[in-house]
Amino acid sequence: ERVGFAIVGLGRLALEEILPAFGESKKARPVALVSGSPEKMKTVAAQYGIDPANCYDYANFDRIRDNPAVKAVYIVLPNGMHREYVERAARAGKHVLCEKPMATSSADAQAMVDACAAASVKLMIAYRIQYEAYNLRLASLVRQQTFGRLVGMSAINVQTVAENGAQQWRHKRALSGGGSLPDIGLYCLNTARFLTGEEPVEIFATQYSPPNDPRYAEVEETLSFTLRFPSNVLVNCFTSYGARDDKCQRLNFEKATVDMPNAYLYEGQRMTVIQRQGDATGQTELVLQQPNQFTEELDHMAECVIGGQRPRTPGEEGVQDHKLMEAIYRAAESGQPVRLPPVEKPDAFR
Ligand code: NAD
Repeated sequence: ERVGFAIVGLGRLALEEILPAFGESKKARPVALVSGSPEKMKTVAAQYGIDPANCYDYANFDRIRDNPAVKAVYIVLPNGMHREYVERAARAGKHVLCEKPMATSSADAQAMVDACAAASVKLMIAYRIQYEAYNLRLASLVRQQTFGRLVGMSAINVQTVAENGAQQWRHKRALSGGGSLPDIGLYCLNTARFLTGEEPVEIFATQYSPPNDPRYAEVEETLSFTLRFPSNVLVNCFTSYGARDDKCQRLNFEKATVDMPNAYLYEGQRMTVIQRQGDATGQTELVLQQPNQFTEELDHMAECVIGGQRPRTPGEEGVQDHKLMEAIYRAAESGQPVRLPPVEKPDAFR
């Protein structure tokens, strides 16, 4: 029996990626929908064979408590709404999968962790890159020191936004919590922590937003930050809404360079290893099986619900990212480095 999920919020990600990804899942299935738009919900329910009796709106969502078919709730709303819906799902006794960024502040994120702990339900944050085949392989190459010590990493996540997009929730601080950093720069931050298995101890940052552009009245356009980790791996990150789409990472090891030109895409990752071969420099393309990363993520949550394990990307992971993003903004605003106390990681490779 596959674990039944309720999907809360039928926006672009839910309709274009998450609902289709259930089609490949052997462990999870969509059984309920929550939306403010009855017409859209009716169409989507018919498309995925969801019982109209399992369709809720934002007001009667709490009645999901009485629906035993729903074991887990997937929150796919604007960031500023995550806390309220995670807490309501927890109070209804349902396990929760929440989209990234977890919230709009570390205080809200911590409150969400506490609410799920109090209700004895699991909380997982949808860090899909931690379930993606190429990034998983890269993490093990770092951990096994296959190419020697990891010396540095560069990570870029740039996504062009519409010129007339100022009214979109991503440009409203109350709903987004920030601009390019929490939306897409978070992939650079979270993946650097995932790949190294370490927590940064020092952060430098600087930012820029074009003046008089209504899209950047409340949130930043472009931000650059450097992370120093305890092992002295140095990581340069760059994120922006203002340039052509680019989602790449490059890792500089003692004995090789590993290049991923499309590291954070929904699919189609590639990986090239550049290293000395005899007297010349050789390039090897690593080709892996690549299951749908959204399906892998849903299946992991379903396994945790069935087996009672803690998710690999629990709420605490989201709290830590929010603390670090707050430190990044502090560094950018002050022009000073921000030093952070060392954090004990429970295990090296979660
Ligand atoms: P979207 O704008 O396409 O969808 C948001 C949905 O929320 C819409 O259906 C909208 O009707 C609904 N909504 C309810 N109340 C709203 C309000 N007050 N204002 C605006 N919308 C409201 O956004 P999206 O791109 O689907 O993003 C949803 C969440 O998923 C965000 O947290 C985002 O960061 C995350 N996301 C994650 C990924 C990923 O790769 N994991 C990709 C895109 C988005």
